[in-house]
Amino acid sequence: MSNSYVLVINSGSSSLKFAVIDPATGDAVISGLGECFGLPEAMISWKYNGEKTEEAIPAGGDHHQYAFTRIVKLLDALHLSDKFVAIGHRVVAGGESFKGTVRVTEDVVNEVEKLAELAPLHNKANGYGMRAAMEVFPSLPQFATFDTAFHQTMPAKAFMYALPKKIYDDYRVRRYGAHGTSHYFVSREAAKVLGKAATECNLITVHLGNGASVSAIKNGECVDTSMGLTPLAGLAMGTRCGDLDPSVIEFLIRKGWDHDTIFNTLNKKSGLLGLSGKTSDMRGLIEAMDQGDKDAQLAFEVFTYRVAKYIASYLVAVGEGLDAIVFTGGIGENSLPVRSAVLNDLKVFGFVEDKQGNEAARFGQSGQIAKSDLFNAVALVIPTNEELVIAQDCVNLL
Ligand code: ADP
Repeated sequence: MSNSYVLVINSGSSSLKFAVIDPATGDAVISGLGECFGLPEAMISWKYNGEKTEEAIPAGGDHHQYAFTRIVKLLDALHLSDKFVAIGHRVVAGGESFKGTVRVTEDVVNEVEKLAELAPLHNKANGYGMRAAMEVFPSLPQFATFDTAFHQTMPAKAFMYALPKKIYDDYRVRRYGAHGTSHYFVSREAAKVLGKAATECNLITVHLGNGASVSAIKNGECVDTSMGLTPLAGLAMGTRCGDLDPSVIEFLIRKGWDHDTIFNTLNKKSGLLGLSGKTSDMRGLIEAMDQGDKDAQLAFEVFTYRVAKYIASYLVAVGEGLDAIVFTGGIGENSLPVRSAVLNDLKVFGFVEDKQGNEAARFGQSGQIAKSDLFNAVALVIPTNEELVIAQDCVNLL
């Protein structure tokens, strides 16, 4: 057991995730989650020494504050707080201001809160997490890692929307992407698997969780990504619609839908949930599909077909010499049927699924699941670990 830990905090709009990471080994000593804030079912749970504990959060009051106080008390009781060398915060939107992990100062928190324009629910909560942690641990250095930072290397042709340029000049409306820490982590791990320097790897990384995105990585740098100004763009997701003709919004307005109803629908009632009418969870969706549910089947097909189309288009972004397609995230790491369906759509590029490999690479196991002789490339599964990147960035910057 090491004596230097990093507390990683991910303060979301209605949740607060935390993990105590040993940056030397990458192990999470304890990890937990406060969720459903503001709802009667609000609760907090954590895993420590292989045991899971759950507690209800009492109704009323500020649930972020309650959860933060409870977590600090728990970490004190387990004598972990005195081993912290730093605190790392995950921040969703870094705009063009943040191109890497930075030390948290009052100015940084103010800038993060200002960038709430780009991620209204998330950045406010991220700011709260930083302020709360600074108050409780005033002597500990704190750092912020941005979901958008890895994508800041995209060229203008990839990040610009074809709108009047003044809209970018005046408001910085452009593609920023998200999940950058995950795309970064799996790209570095893939380089190790491929036995090449990260800066020589050409990859398409596919993060499929509740949120989902694809990135094109050329010589180790992100050159394109599927999420946009906000994490609503790109793939179909658990509850988000992904790419959409903007005229659909105007059409719905003409039908009498108001702004809040439309954006609530696009963010929270679309994707797998919207199409299936049943669930946003891929496991449940596949169960329903296996029982002959046609809407669940359609949701699955829209999801996987769009993943394959993005991968296909990113062959252009990566250019010559694709080394690997890398699957990660809860679905990418575990779902055999999703990966099979995507690989099946990629047959046209010579990808042949390795059925045994695909079966084996699940539940935390990395592995090769397909190969293309045409491209001299492979498809890999690599479990992501965003907390480890945050913890290691903290230690490197210390
Ligand atoms: P988040 O984006 O919230 O971090 P995750 O990366 O944990 O989400 O991914 C959640 C998704 O992963 C859910 O759709 C869930 O059904 C899916 N998932 C998790 N385990 C499996 C599994 N064994 N088979 C299929 N899908 C799975």
